[in-house]
Amino acid sequence: MSALFETEHAAWPFPAKPARLSDDEKAFYRHKIKQLLKARNAVIVAHYYTDPEIQALAEETGGCVADSLEMARFGSSHPASTLLVAGVRFMGETAKILSPEKTVLMPTLQAECSLDLGCPIDEFSAFCDAHPDRTVVVYANTSAAVKARADWVVTSSIAVELIDHLDSLGEKIIWAPDRHLGRYVTQKTGADVLCWQGACIVHDEFKTQALLRMKALYPDAAVLVHPESPQAVVDLADAVGSTSQLIQAAQRLPHPQMIVATDRGIFYKMQQAVPEKTLLEAPTAGEGATCRSCAHCPWMAMNGLKAIADGLEQGGAQHEIEVDAALREAALLPLDRMLAFAAELKLKVKGNA
Ligand code: SF4
Repeated sequence: MSALFETEHAAWPFPAKPARLSDDEKAFYRHKIKQLLKARNAVIVAHYYTDPEIQALAEETGGCVADSLEMARFGSSHPASTLLVAGVRFMGETAKILSPEKTVLMPTLQAECSLDLGCPIDEFSAFCDAHPDRTVVVYANTSAAVKARADWVVTSSIAVELIDHLDSLGEKIIWAPDRHLGRYVTQKTGADVLCWQGACIVHDEFKTQALLRMKALYPDAAVLVHPESPQAVVDLADAVGSTSQLIQAAQRLPHPQMIVATDRGIFYKMQQAVPEKTLLEAPTAGEGATCRSCAHCPWMAMNGLKAIADGLEQGGAQHEIEVDAALREAALLPLDRMLAFAAELKLKVKGNA
């Protein structure tokens, strides 16, 4: 039997790791990808959690490396007719929902997310039906069908602000799927939130006691934590936030070292932002457990150079994202609300600066 990732609520098989490439093979695929990007009028839209060589290639070829909100914005405003989304499937679906006229390709359609997998539409829809008085807010890490069932989509970078806004309007909320982020926004806002019990297999593995020991070893380090992590880990943080917010925190905080509790893929952009600082991975093993994801999402790791070249070259059912037109229309509404809210928020922050 293949190894499983398990959360309290479900288990999934480990995806296969991409084969390691020699330096010559890497150079071959990088060259090939550059040619294919030109031939297809395509651009790479990559997530912070992809491997450093993928992020470097996205930058080098005029693409973007960002969190899921910025990926969505970049993809829909870029003039390329094809988006190569290096990330996980819900990111490709979001890109297609926002840009139906574009071809959206992925290195593999098997790149999942435990939050998406842990929130199947039938169960989630029944949960919403049982609480018709609540506004449904879903995290971007969900399928198009779950988004279509929601009133709002949100990313971790604006989750606290959105829930605070809805609370100020007197709305009671269903939050899905991440239970840790749901708990975090509830604590921050005091809103009435009913939370789906999903978890990210990467952030769920950060360990409190081992982190305390690491803090003792590095007394000058700041602790940066993504709010998909367990509460006891969040409680030890000097800064809590989305991937982009953690990079900003690394720049803002005076500490010479940063212990970082999120996927280690973020180190590529964080180190660019703070070249003089030392970045350390927060511990995922310890307290009787052995890490399984070891701070790197196994589905993000599927976005290798060969898979990107295959995606661009072959397209088709193995690589192209399709979203049913009716589903797309229904999912677009809460996504557009999110983008409009995020744009207003940006203006407010600018106005206050
Ligand atoms: S890191 Fe976690 S939230 Fe992100 S894609 Fe992987 S499983 Fe999903």
